[in-house]
Amino acid sequence: MSGKILVVEDEREIADLLELYLKNEGYQVVKCYDAESGLAAALAGDIDLALLDVLLPESDGFSLCRRIRERFRFPIIMLTSRAEPLDKITGLSLGADDYVTKPFVPLELMARVKAQLRRFTSYNDRQPEQLLTVGGLILDTVSRRCCLDERLLDLTPTEFDLLRLLCQNRGKVLSSEELFHQIWGSGYFSKSANPIPVHIRHLREKLGDDAEHPRYIKTVWGVGYKIEG
Ligand code: CA
Repeated sequence: MSGKILVVEDEREIADLLELYLKNEGYQVVKCYDAESGLAAALAGDIDLALLDVLLPESDGFSLCRRIRERFRFPIIMLTSRAEPLDKITGLSLGADDYVTKPFVPLELMARVKAQLRRFTSYNDRQPEQLLTVGGLILDTVSRRCCLDERLLDLTPTEFDLLRLLCQNRGKVLSSEELFHQIWGSGYFSKSANPIPVHIRHLREKLGDDAEHPRYIKTVWGVGYKIEG
């Protein structure tokens, strides 16, 4: 199996050990000793899986995990020397996929790396449209997160669905009625009580778009809305 693994671990002997085992399994390794360079390496792209130590100088592995998760879906395995179950919950709720307590058994860790990569690859094969990207906007349709210019946006479920539909139909004008039925099913659509414009307005505010010169959601008068890009 091949892949590029990001290792963020400030203890160099452990980082070297991880590198040795990973390379032995045929993986490429990007080694970083602190959270900042770890994030930079993740942003540089091409990473298939990350191993993050929880205790890092100046920052910690959990916030690094959260920052990586704002942009990427590749598997993240946390390494920690603390065995408190609270850590595990925190790590997993921040988007880590697995958790290994130090001192770890290298072969067991390698098995977990392989399992996560296998799971991620087959999952992505089934979900080619999981990530929708328009300009600086990234929507993850599985975790239902939305980032704009690397910032996580706090969208309501309706706002997320609206944005998702517009991104999935990029370049195409969708009427309020179409959007309504996609979101709320076959309920009765009343033009006079159309809820879509209000949600579009809130969405534009969160996107920093103004209605006159929107960067993302364009109004096509008398027809509906669209996103181009
Ligand atoms: Ca450490």
